[in-house]
Amino acid sequence: MRFLPRLIAVGAVTAAVVAFLSPAVHADTVTVYSARNEQLLKPLLDRYSKETGTEIRLLTANEGALLARLKAEGASTPADLLITVDAGNLWLAAQQDQLRSLNSAVLQKNIPAHLRDPGNQWFGLSVRARTLVYAKAQVKPSELSTYEDLAAPKWKGKLCLRTSKKVYNQSLVAMMISELGEPKTESIVRGWVANLATDPFPDDTSLLKAIAAGQCQVGIANTYYLGRLLVKEPEFPVGLFWANQNGSGAHVNVSGAGVTRHAKNPAGAQKLVEYLSQEAAQNFYVDEDLEFPANPKVQPNSIIKTWGPFKPNLLNVSKAGELQAAATRLMDRAGYR
Ligand code: FE
Repeated sequence: MRFLPRLIAVGAVTAAVVAFLSPAVHADTVTVYSARNEQLLKPLLDRYSKETGTEIRLLTANEGALLARLKAEGASTPADLLITVDAGNLWLAAQQDQLRSLNSAVLQKNIPAHLRDPGNQWFGLSVRARTLVYAKAQVKPSELSTYEDLAAPKWKGKLCLRTSKKVYNQSLVAMMISELGEPKTESIVRGWVANLATDPFPDDTSLLKAIAAGQCQVGIANTYYLGRLLVKEPEFPVGLFWANQNGSGAHVNVSGAGVTRHAKNPAGAQKLVEYLSQEAAQNFYVDEDLEFPANPKVQPNSIIKTWGPFKPNLLNVSKAGELQAAATRLMDRAGYR
C-alpha cells in the first residue's frame, strides 16, 4: 500500500522519460524499474552515474505493479532494467517474456551458478537466507535442527510463521518440494500448521517481535530482519539457527536484476548489472541492507558475520519460481493461510 503514492507520482516521471527517449535519446540513459527500497538503491545508482556519466531514471514500485506495468507497456516500455527481490518474482518476469538473456563473462564470473537463471535472463545480486529463529530464554540451539523438525509435536503451540501469501514462504516451500517431493512436504506443512501458536503474521518483523515477547518460541525468518532489530537493540532476545546444516543447507534466495525484453539501451543496462555484481557495489548492498553478498569474494557485514558461516542450499534458486504455483496450492491444501 505504501507504494501507491509513489506509483502515481511516477506516472509523471514516466511521461517525462518517454518524452526524453523519443527522438533525441541520450545514448547513456538507463531506465530502471525497481521493487527495492529507493533509499537502498538510489545512492548506489548515483555513484554509478557519477563514475560513468550514465544518466539513470529510477521508478520504484512493488514487484507485482512493476511486472504488470512492463507487460502493459510492451514494446514501448521505457524500462531497460528490472530490479526486484525473490527468485520467484524474477522467474515470473522471465516466464512472462519480459526479460532477455545476457552474455556476460563478468556476471558468469561474479555470480555463482545457483544464484542466477540457467538461461541468463536474471542474476542474483544479494543473497537472503531464510532460517530458524528462536526465543533465547526458552529454547536451546541444541533443540533445533531443520525446517522439517518444526512440524514435530514437541513444538505444538510454540511456532510462529509469516503468512503463506508472502513469496518468501512460497519459495521456501517450493524448494522443499523440489527436494522432498509433494507428499512429504505437505505433511511437514500440515505439521507446522498444527503447531502454530497464533495466526500467521503479515511480516517477519512482527513475527520476530512476537518471539521476543514470548508469544511463541520458534519461527522462520529472513536474517536481515533480525539484523535490523539487532542494530536498534543489541540485546534483542531472539537467536538465529542455521537450518539443515547436516543435510542440504539453509534456504537462500536472492534479490536480483534482469535486462528487459524491450530495453532501449540493453548494453547500458547490462553494464549496470555488471557494476552491481562487483566488489564496491556488493559491499554497499551488504552494509545497507544486511544481506549476504552474491559475489563470494565479498565479505558479509560485521553484524551478520557474528552468526557464523553457514552451508547454503545449492539448489538453483530458479526452482523457487518453477514450483511456486505448486507450493501455493500445497500450502492452501494444508490449511496454511
Ligand atoms: Fe524482505
